[in-house]
Amino acid sequence: MSSNRYKLLIVEDDRQMRSLLTAVTEAAGYAPLNASSCAEGLAMFSSHLPDLILLDLGLPDQDGRRLIHAVRQASACPIIVLSARLGENDKVEALDEGANDYVTKPFSTVELLARLRSELRAARRPAGGQQSAGKIQINGLTLDHDLRRVYVDGQEIRLTQIEFNILSLLVANSGRVLTYAAMIREVWGPTDVGGVKKLQVNMANIRRKLGERPGDNRFILNELGVGYRFVTDE
Ligand code: CA
Repeated sequence: MSSNRYKLLIVEDDRQMRSLLTAVTEAAGYAPLNASSCAEGLAMFSSHLPDLILLDLGLPDQDGRRLIHAVRQASACPIIVLSARLGENDKVEALDEGANDYVTKPFSTVELLARLRSELRAARRPAGGQQSAGKIQINGLTLDHDLRRVYVDGQEIRLTQIEFNILSLLVANSGRVLTYAAMIREVWGPTDVGGVKKLQVNMANIRRKLGERPGDNRFILNELGVGYRFVTDE
């Protein structure tokens, strides 16, 4: 085993799902480790210090959120939740507890690997160092931080200050879901309450200005009941 591969800790009690995740991630060049309960997952986390955790929420001994909570006491290790549950509340609660993203079962291999790459890439970036990143280009969208300008396919798009801040936040976290609460906190500050409507109105304006129509997700995905995600082109 080559030592420069990313170590992934897979915490999942379903044996078939665990084998699938192990096979898929190993084939993609990662070094997967396995645990089948919350307690085992925590023990493995302490002894192996993985680069990322793939976590099933429904574990036999404890709710997977216990593991998120425990890991977050000590570490910023990225956590992607594997959610078989239908309710958005579980995802939002897991994200609020400190998970970085989620995939809903059944998921495609392509989707899972894209999430892994996004989180590992974000983990390599220094915290808070994203706002002065000069120019960023994704999917034909160019965001110029210094001039606070946005272009789509070379054409300038006029955004308000708030709209620019929202788009800039999404682009800086491209590929990752951002919850409504997290976005409101970043854009309007921690004391702003009841801002979801305000956020949605701004998002609708941004998407219209970027030329997106309902059902067209070239740039931004609306994760219903959870938040928004900027689409990456990798
Ligand atoms: Ca399970």
